[in-house]
Amino acid sequence: MRITEIKAVPVSFRVPEGQNVTLGIGRAVKRDAVLVKVTTDEGIIGWGEAHHGRCPGAIAKLIDTTMSDLVLGMDPLDVHGVWAKVYKMQLSSHGMGAAAAMAQSGIDIALWDIRGKVSGWPLYRLLGGGNRPIAAYGGGIALGWQAPESLAEEALAYVAQGNRALKLRVGDAPVIDVARVRAVREAVGDSVDILVDANTGYSLDDVRRVMPAYEELGVGWLEEPFPPQDYRNYQIAAGLGRVPLAAGENHFTRFEFTRMIEDRAVRFAQPDLSKAGGISECTRIAILCSSWKMSFNPHTSATGINMAATIHLLAAVDNPGYFEGDLARHNPFRDEVCGSPYELDEDGCVRPKDGPGLGVEVDEKFIAAHPLIEGPCYV
Ligand SMILES: [Mg+2]
Repeated sequence: MRITEIKAVPVSFRVPEGQNVTLGIGRAVKRDAVLVKVTTDEGIIGWGEAHHGRCPGAIAKLIDTTMSDLVLGMDPLDVHGVWAKVYKMQLSSHGMGAAAAMAQSGIDIALWDIRGKVSGWPLYRLLGGGNRPIAAYGGGIALGWQAPESLAEEALAYVAQGNRALKLRVGDAPVIDVARVRAVREAVGDSVDILVDANTGYSLDDVRRVMPAYEELGVGWLEEPFPPQDYRNYQIAAGLGRVPLAAGENHFTRFEFTRMIEDRAVRFAQPDLSKAGGISECTRIAILCSSWKMSFNPHTSATGINMAATIHLLAAVDNPGYFEGDLARHNPFRDEVCGSPYELDEDGCVRPKDGPGLGVEVDEKFIAAHPLIEGPCYV
């Protein structure tokens, strides 16, 4: 079998007025994604997703031109061979940046989808896993910077829908962040796990200020207080309190995760399958975490393709942590790209799909109807 075509398509939608969530990186005004379609000479098609990296057109171009040229004609079942070739020819010199890792991720996910379709097996089985429940938390672009009372009300509604853990957006002024977390804790009680995400918005001094309150309020983790390259800040912050730190959605490949893990400041590693290097590389990162007795808590964005792939991988590793569910009120990437990627059961858990490969059918009419919208997605 040979790879005969690779096509990447950037897609966008505008967030409806009045539903714009504000978080540590700004106010979300539109959403972007890059979908990757890999075709073979036997007519089997695989779908993957590359993160948009805030430059969806550029990521798609990189896949369609340079990366496609490297990979056309190769055996699609040899996913590690394709990964190694792209690493040697693109990532290891000149291109070891975010865009290249994201583009590589999209191709890798599509090739695993093809492997599943050829074997007739769902991806979790192909990866050595089983159809088991995976605990989920309610995340995505939701529960943002709003008045504590309305945030508590919104959180209660998600708990009523079956969520047993929720992620709140912090990274604002410490006093208001603590008021928001306190309001939600008082509303939902002690049985719901509350996680917080600063989206790189904190200074070291902010962390010193929020830590005692987050500890008292039983916060499960503090995610991305700083940008990923602020290694020293992470190391200092880890000593400022007992709330564990989480990070990884802006770390790329096993090489960056190796440093993160060896620094021992971050307790929860969160690679995104569409950013860190696809299913192949995130499997390696999960194994790295396993050897340090850390659970694997992948970040998910942006469409049902990545969500489905993430649940498959969580069901196949020996150290699954949380799946990040998506609470956004309006998210056609979640609901319409390939149907519903998951369902929450009464215990707040999800399960992998049972169809071959990713187990999803991508709606190409959706893609045609949602062309790229230029401009920033956060303002
Ligand atoms: Mg995050």
